[in-house]
Amino acid sequence: MQMGLLIVLSGPAGVGKGTVCTALRKRMPEIVYSVSATTRQPRAGEVDGVNYFFKTRQQFEQMIKQDALLEYAEYVGNYYGTPREFVDQTLSAGKDVILEIEVQGAMQVKERFPNAIFVFLLPPSMEELKQRITGRGTESQQTIDIRMGVATKEMELLEHYHYAVVNDEIEAACDRVRSIIIAEHCRKDIV
Ligand code: 5GP
Repeated sequence: MQMGLLIVLSGPAGVGKGTVCTALRKRMPEIVYSVSATTRQPRAGEVDGVNYFFKTRQQFEQMIKQDALLEYAEYVGNYYGTPREFVDQTLSAGKDVILEIEVQGAMQVKERFPNAIFVFLLPPSMEELKQRITGRGTESQQTIDIRMGVATKEMELLEHYHYAVVNDEIEAACDRVRSIIIAEHCRKDIV
């Protein structure tokens, strides 16, 4: 059976990866979304096993030791990682999988899955990104400052990606990512 396509949607936090991903899942329900593990506290309304698998640091470090993660990164004081087995099994079953992850993790995926498709989501401007990070209203000023510093560094990794998609408007960005996935399935060199 032909393996599914692994799509990595990355870019700075606050750029709207989660929102674009949610819109994409509605438009392309056949694509399987990988639920990440994290040590950060759940935000209001987040459900364990749906938004994330919420873990203690000890549990997460155990997953690292057991090589249960396809990639992981420490981001603003918390661990985030992709459970490996689920992704392997889903791809082997011929289904496409999408990872919505930050850039350090994306670079690790590139080593393990050289055929994965890497899509970098860009903000219309850095000023707009700051407004989005601030506008979420759930983070302290210190966290916002740290995240903006990290975001500026993250933008430098754009060159390692196959595609750049500006998230100026959710549905438009979602359309672009959808077009990329459709086009990737039409490529002669990976058939
Ligand atoms: P948040 O705390 O806002 O949910 O996520 C913070 C950052 O972690 C976001 O950029 C998000 O895309 C990223 N992230 C979520 N899950 C994973 C994962 O499994 N691996 C990596 N490397 N980053 C992740």
